[in-house]
Amino acid sequence: MRLIFLGPPGAGKGTVAAKIKEAYGIAHISTGDILRENVKRGTSLGKLAERYMQAGDLVPDDIIVEMVESRLQEPDCSEGFILDGFPRTLPQAEALDRILKKLKVKLDAVILLEVDDETIVKRLSGRRVCPKCGAIYNVSFNPPKADSLCDHCGEMAIQRNDDKEEVVRQRLAVYRERTAPLIDYYLRKGILKKVEAARGSDEVAHAIEESLAGGYHGHA
Ligand code: AMP
Repeated sequence: MRLIFLGPPGAGKGTVAAKIKEAYGIAHISTGDILRENVKRGTSLGKLAERYMQAGDLVPDDIIVEMVESRLQEPDCSEGFILDGFPRTLPQAEALDRILKKLKVKLDAVILLEVDDETIVKRLSGRRVCPKCGAIYNVSFNPPKADSLCDHCGEMAIQRNDDKEEVVRQRLAVYRERTAPLIDYYLRKGILKKVEAARGSDEVAHAIEESLAGGYHGHA
């Protein structure tokens, strides 16, 4: 199964992708996670990406495309993958088409996670992530079991720098201007599936599985 998860920041792409990854035994490729890992390790890619990320802007297409192209050739992608947070611009989508053609594979579906703005703001302002294992929490909807410590590795779950309110607003504006046009791009290819995502992540994951099983192209 080869999927793209599309949707604004705060739609739940990362949380739901982790569940779908388990259900289908496929790789979960989050370009945001790869970039954050590089920032943490202080690599040259991380140093370059950091200033864009802190401002809520997109990292240049050529850098991202090269990163995804090499990631897609790793062995864990052979059974399929979820692209989470990529593509985010039309040139990235066109580059992905070329990469998949070269690899002789096809996308099964593009899942659009739809949420209203109010839900986005609530989710992002309450989001906490484990800096060690990447587990995602929310202080209101899905808090860690003990204080602010990650359930899996006991690290203190923290707020991402780019989840601060002014950066969130910029990320939303960037989504509307540069990423939302991809909805039409994939609608025209006939592979877009819309899923109502302003509900719990288990329900959303279930709706996606049903939609993939039934080939249903409307609201799940
Ligand atoms: P995310 O975790 O997907 O919200 O990504 C966090 C940040 O990483 C974004 O705000 C961008 O600065 C950068 N980023 C992640 N994926 C991409 C991409 N496909 N293209 C450009 N920038 C990206």
